[in-house]
Amino acid sequence: MEVAKLNDIIKSSKNILIASHVNPDGDTLGAMCGLYELIKLNFKKRCDMLAVSKIPDKFKFIPNIESAKHIDDFDKSREYDLVINVDVAALDRICDGITLFKKAKNRVNIDHHKTNNGYGDLNFVDGDASSASEVIYSIAKKLKWEINLKIATCLYAGILTDTGSFRFNNTTPRALEYAAEMIRMGIVPNDMFRSCYETYTKGMVLCQAYCVEKAVFLDDDKIVYTTVFRKDMEKYNTDEEFAEGLTERLRAVTSTQVAFVAKEMKNGGCKISMRSKSVDVAEICSVFGGGGHKHAAGCTLKCNVEEAIKKILHEIRKYEF
Ligand code: AMP
Ligand code: MN
Ligand code: MN
Repeated sequence: MEVAKLNDIIKSSKNILIASHVNPDGDTLGAMCGLYELIKLNFKKRCDMLAVSKIPDKFKFIPNIESAKHIDDFDKSREYDLVINVDVAALDRICDGITLFKKAKNRVNIDHHKTNNGYGDLNFVDGDASSASEVIYSIAKKLKWEINLKIATCLYAGILTDTGSFRFNNTTPRALEYAAEMIRMGIVPNDMFRSCYETYTKGMVLCQAYCVEKAVFLDDDKIVYTTVFRKDMEKYNTDEEFAEGLTERLRAVTSTQVAFVAKEMKNGGCKISMRSKSVDVAEICSVFGGGGHKHAAGCTLKCNVEEAIKKILHEIRKYEF
């Protein structure tokens, strides 16, 4: 059985690295810190944890997150026995971490993105799982690993955030059953909700309101998009974290079929965050080298925001809805 192989590899590895994706969300961080604690508890081993971008302040509540190190603080010549990527849809999502991944003796890929091409030596990619955190919980159960409240806190955070608080259609019976088991272990849903969602500053809420206000509705309001420029964030004294949930806000309009946010990147490129009600936006984003899920996907274009919007609209309009 594949999971037994993972157990053996962890057992025989002396140094292990767990890697999370760029612009980290609750799932990649929860899955990374949860797996860290699982390995610590069940194998008495300490792993290294890799972050390739700044970890949003609101995720500081995730147990063990303080042990994660930024890629710049790693010795790139280091050779790990085992590198485990969590919630990493494609290898380029760990940026410079690729060097460490490629050099490792064993490479494991734990994910739930349907667009994941199975780039690891050992792949646990379950496109029906709500989150990478759910995949890890199910591996832990299969291997009968001990699970404590710290681990449940990490993995519940991942399931909660990737299901949009148990609202998206990845909210399956299994996701809810696992969440129920975690609540029985001592997770308090309202505390978790507050930690994940009620942590905005005034500037963040006002900046989000400003970006909703300037939204552009097209094609009988079926397509809606808005822009986020660096100057908007400066004006409201906020960082990119304010945009969390912004695309979903635009999708909430009844007429909306496809919603996207075009965000100006520090280096001048443009990050697209796309949501839909039925169209496969992972397919649209994969045209630009991105990917994700059917109703939630993203990509990054090397051009400026205005040009990116033109290209994206052209691609969206190839679909009928
Ligand atoms: P976001 O709009 O950034 O919240 O991303 C929505 C979903 O698409 C998440 O599941 C991301 O992991 C995934 N995603 C975003 N950007 C990319 C990308 N460049 N490649 C693959 N998946 C992505
Ligand atoms: Mn993610
Ligand atoms: Mn995820």
